[in-house]
Amino acid sequence: MIPRVEPNLELIKGPIVNTGFQAAWLKNPDGVTQGKRWNLATCGTDCHSGPGCDLCLARVKALKAQQEGKDIGRVEPIPDNLFQPLKWKNRKNAFAFPEGDPFHKGIPLSFLLTAFDIMELCPQHNFVLTTKRHKKLYKISKLKHTNVFIGVSIEGQKYLSRADALLELPNNFHKVLFLAPMLTHMVLPKKVLRGVDWVVCSPERGGQGRDPRPCPEEWLVDLIKQVKTFDSNLPFFLDMPYQEDRIHRMGGKFMEVPAALLR
Ligand code: SF4
Repeated sequence: MIPRVEPNLELIKGPIVNTGFQAAWLKNPDGVTQGKRWNLATCGTDCHSGPGCDLCLARVKALKAQQEGKDIGRVEPIPDNLFQPLKWKNRKNAFAFPEGDPFHKGIPLSFLLTAFDIMELCPQHNFVLTTKRHKKLYKISKLKHTNVFIGVSIEGQKYLSRADALLELPNNFHKVLFLAPMLTHMVLPKKVLRGVDWVVCSPERGGQGRDPRPCPEEWLVDLIKQVKTFDSNLPFFLDMPYQEDRIHRMGGKFMEVPAALLR
C-alpha cells in the first residue's frame, strides 16, 4: 500500500519553481546543454491519477493557484505552443507535455495527434513523453514515428501493469519505463525488461513544503542490479540531482541514455 499524501500548501511561499522530474534531467543530443520543455498543457488539480501524482510540482502549482482563487483547475491544451519545435535551431531533445498528462481527457485527441504531426515534421529532434493513462496508448499505435520516446510512469509495484500497454505499441517507438517517483521496492519481470529501451528512475523530491516519501538505497541498488543483470547494455538513468554521496555509494552515476538520443 502506498501512503497517500497531500502537500502542505501553507508552507509554500513564493513562486513554485519547477525542479520536477520532467524538467531538469533531459539533455540535448550534445549531452551537455539542457533539453527543451515543450509545454502543451496546463496541469490541473484534476490531473491526479494515482499516488505518484500526490506531490507532482505541476499539480501543486495548480492547487496553490486554486487556493489563491485563480481558476486553473483543469488540464487544458496550450495551442499557442504547438508549432515551437519548427523554430528550434540545431538538433534538440524535448520533453513534450512536461506538465499535464498527454492522454488526460482534457486534451482532445485531435490536439494530441496534431502534436504528433509536428514531431513527424521535425525528424531532427527527439521527443520524450510519458503517461499514466496507459489504457489510451492504443490511440497512437498506428503512428510510424521513430523520433518519439514514449513511456509510462509507474510509482510502485502495484502499478506495473501500466507497462503492458507500452509493450503492445509497435517497435518504431522507443519505449521507456519511468519509475517515477519510485515509492516501493520494484521487481521488474523479464518480459518488461525485454520490451523497453530505457529505464529511468527518480525518487520523490522534497522541498517547497513537501516531504518526499522514502526511497531507500537498497531499493535503488536492487533495481540497478535487476536491470544490469538482465542486460548490461540496457540504459539506466537514475535521476538524483544533488545527491552525489548516495549515487557514489550505489556504484556509479547511472546517467545512461539510449544512443538514439545522442545522435
Ligand atoms: S499525471 Fe503527470 S502531470 Fe498529471 S498530476 Fe500526475 S504526475 Fe503530474
